[in-house]
Amino acid sequence: MSAIDLVRLSKVYPGGVTALDGVELAIADGEFFALLGPSGCGKTTLLRTIAGLEEATGGAVLIGGDDVTALPPGRRDVAMVFQDYALFPHMTVTDNIAYPLRIRQVGGAERRAKAAGTAGELGLDALLERRPAQLSGGQQQRVALARAMACHPRAFLLDEPLSNLDARMRLEARTFLKRLQRELRITCVFVTHDQAEALALADRVAGMEDGRVRQVGTPAEVFRRPANTFVASFIGSTPMNLLEGEVREGGRVAVGPAEVPGGPGAGALAPGDPVVYGVRPEYLTYAGEPTGGAFSGEVTVVENLGSAQLVTLDGESGSIQVVVDEDTEVAPGTAAWAVPRPDRVLLYRDG
Ligand code: ADP
Ligand code: MG
Repeated sequence: MSAIDLVRLSKVYPGGVTALDGVELAIADGEFFALLGPSGCGKTTLLRTIAGLEEATGGAVLIGGDDVTALPPGRRDVAMVFQDYALFPHMTVTDNIAYPLRIRQVGGAERRAKAAGTAGELGLDALLERRPAQLSGGQQQRVALARAMACHPRAFLLDEPLSNLDARMRLEARTFLKRLQRELRITCVFVTHDQAEALALADRVAGMEDGRVRQVGTPAEVFRRPANTFVASFIGSTPMNLLEGEVREGGRVAVGPAEVPGGPGAGALAPGDPVVYGVRPEYLTYAGEPTGGAFSGEVTVVENLGSAQLVTLDGESGSIQVVVDEDTEVAPGTAAWAVPRPDRVLLYRDG
């Protein structure tokens, strides 16, 4: 059993920075769990506190049901992979991978055999005698993973492990990591500031802000129904449109001069209530002619997304982004309309 439970976990650094503010999380055995949030929200601190590299100032860490809050890192049986891999530059790949076994006083021959076995699983066989400086970023990252795997920990803690790779390698490494986790069925806590990475990899995602967990859910839940405008603003490959409006009769919402459908959430609100109107660029339909229940504006920016285009309209309702298919001609400087898909509209009252 290697579930990880965090119970009202807090960390205040000397000097008074509250990096973790009562974090409650229950991560299941074998789960691939992503922690997502902007720089400075406490992700690294959370991982380091689980690993025992930072001491909690309040609350508890349970691993496999055991309270490990007072245990040193070496006795928690978890392995951390750092953002910069933290490989030993003067050691070969074999020695790097075998290092945690050496710390555990495993004998030389057994150590090398185990290191070679783990290296083989990760496709590093040909590189065993090289030093980190002779490896590509992706290879270094695999060595760091192999080192983490070598002593069969109960959980992996991965701190932005893909962020030092270039875009293409990053996608490859992402798929590789997901496959590896599936095969090993090991609990993984994966930290990232990249929402696409979190959604692609994780069984569940936690959105963090200022040392607190603001939402936990499956990628589909967090994408479909971000719990607040903070989570909404950083989930999705194109940011959600978030516009100030006011509820009107008949479940409609006024956003500037536009009256647009308020969606499923409007029924619970009263006319006159202020709301933040949320709709993803993918859930707006572009129109080149006037149409009712739509935002209107002038096309100011057209960005090519490959198989689609991201079009920005500026008008009296604000600045609105719409995803438009690749075959539609859209010219900057022309008037345009954007019709929300009612069942995908989200209304927030926290803005
Ligand atoms: P993230 O990994 O999400 O970027 P961190 O956990 O590194 O966030 O940092 C969370 C907050 O704690 C930040 O305000 C950061 O400046 C502060 N912090 C991190 N490490 C220390 C430290 N050793 N001493 C004091 N403050 C720290
Ligand atoms: Mg960090």
